[in-house]
Amino acid sequence: PVDDNPEGNGAAVGNEGDVDGEKLVLTMGTEAGFEPFEYKEGDNYLGIDIELAQAIADKLNMELQISDMAFDTLLDALNADMVDFVAAGMSIDPEREQQVDFTVPYFNASQAVVIRAADAANYTDVTALEGKKIAVQAGTTGNDLADLVKDADVSAFTAYSEAISALENGSVDAVIMDNFPASSFAAGNEALQVITGWYEEEQYAMAIKKGNTELHDMVMAAFDEMIADGTAA
Ligand code: GLN
Repeated sequence: PVDDNPEGNGAAVGNEGDVDGEKLVLTMGTEAGFEPFEYKEGDNYLGIDIELAQAIADKLNMELQISDMAFDTLLDALNADMVDFVAAGMSIDPEREQQVDFTVPYFNASQAVVIRAADAANYTDVTALEGKKIAVQAGTTGNDLADLVKDADVSAFTAYSEAISALENGSVDAVIMDNFPASSFAAGNEALQVITGWYEEEQYAMAIKKGNTELHDMVMAAFDEMIADGTAA
């Protein structure tokens, strides 16, 4: 879905990003190991966030570029102007709201717990995690929740794929991660089971640098249009 031929389509309307026929670049920061929101197939980036970002870039007549990096570096990259916005299945939370501005929420999610299916009988409620080895992705809301679990031994990985491998090979007991990517990892893998319903709902939004009101306004207007035309919920 990323437009690799940005000069190809002349824009008659909505030419905010058009300077002498050259499209301005809009750079999205993300961590592309988070199917179905952002993931890679070969060199192509796919997923819900990629499609939304592409739709925003199209509305602004800008060329979308994607910068893939560790999740826990995204907001620093944004504040250092290395990316224009972040779209990474990022949940709105009070600590992040002090660092960046969020767009409207566009997706509801929650943290889930992935375990080995063989252990399922031991996981009847959230206290089952106490004292366990828990893997997370560094810097996520799942990481925050794991840090609160009594006597847990928390390992923070850069990629969820590493956390899931650690679960599969027995070096951790559980992974706390977002429900949809958890289901993606567990799909077709009989050895894994996903537990939902233990944690509160979170809302995903895109993040924009504080003070970049111009881009914030443009992206919010694009969201308004996408909500009106059904591209976004
Ligand atoms: N929604 C979670 C968070 O905001 C995880 C996002 C992610 O890992 N891409 O921390």
